[in-house]
Amino acid sequence: MVEILDSTLREGEQTPGVYFDNHVKLAIAELLDKIGINYIEAGHPKVTSEIHQAVKLLSHRGLNTNIAAHSRLVKSDIDLALECEVDFIGIFYSVTDDRLSDVFKTDINKVAEKIYESISYAKKRNPNVIIRYTPEDTVRSDFNKVITASVAAVEAGADVISIADTTGFMSPGTKNNMYDYVKNLRESLHKKNLHPKIAVHCHNDQGLALANALDAYRAGVDIIDASVMGLGERAGIVDLAQLLVVLNLNHNEKQWDLSYLSELYKLVSFHSGIPIPANFPIIGENAFTHCAGVHTHAAAINPMHYEHLNPELVNRKRKFSLDHMSGIASLNFALNQLGINNLSKK
Ligand SMILES: [Zn+2]
Repeated sequence: MVEILDSTLREGEQTPGVYFDNHVKLAIAELLDKIGINYIEAGHPKVTSEIHQAVKLLSHRGLNTNIAAHSRLVKSDIDLALECEVDFIGIFYSVTDDRLSDVFKTDINKVAEKIYESISYAKKRNPNVIIRYTPEDTVRSDFNKVITASVAAVEAGADVISIADTTGFMSPGTKNNMYDYVKNLRESLHKKNLHPKIAVHCHNDQGLALANALDAYRAGVDIIDASVMGLGERAGIVDLAQLLVVLNLNHNEKQWDLSYLSELYKLVSFHSGIPIPANFPIIGENAFTHCAGVHTHAAAINPMHYEHLNPELVNRKRKFSLDHMSGIASLNFALNQLGINNLSKK
């Protein structure tokens, strides 16, 4: 069974203009917990004192899910995350050639040492904390450097290595695809007798985040990141509702309670100030609304003529719209809902 990490409260809050009060974060986390999400990324405690408070609040709430804090490869960040008593710390450090030489002014061996020291330190302080290491912009980094950094992380005790498609670069069916990347990374680590969980973090710059996540799923990835409405930097990441429904319908992953999705999306849309487009899959106002006369006539007899997704799966109802394309079937449907018998055809 694949696991899901929701990053609405961390990545989602990196959407320009989006800010969630701590009581809103709590309400979002509680709904994610009811759905059965495995990990909730609550934020990066070092960024503001409010985020620090929110991470602490969520980690002490007694939810079934694992609460995660983001952290740079810096002792003070790790200390702060540990003090919040989170279940999971996500540590990131880029190993792209440009970052190593231009920004960090270091080389991969020194980075590997720093990764080893920092993760060993965190594990020593709390052996139960789950550690994820992410080489930021993994997929555009030199593969050997990704392996060197990942080996150091796992040997120090990291439980998860995350493949970050930070710029939405990957594309299924091309040489830069997630399926091959997940397989190659796992095989390279297995050869060294290292068996961490593999996660993917797919950005949506080309509109391919979900496709890339499913490509990773096909390769047996263990954890997939998503957020409500796909909120995040630039074009965001994988949309949570679409991911869960596709996995449920097409891949027999039945472990989530999808009936809370609508309530969750309304809450996040309201507090983020970002409207849900009417044609947004699963959650949009029109996602289960039939319009044209031919469609409504057939769908009134048997909805499966124009649906393969039952709205009840996500606690929603089928609707027939009344407008210039409506036929008698739509009118009858609407009148029946008001308790009025069918119109005569005369
Ligand atoms: Zn991201």
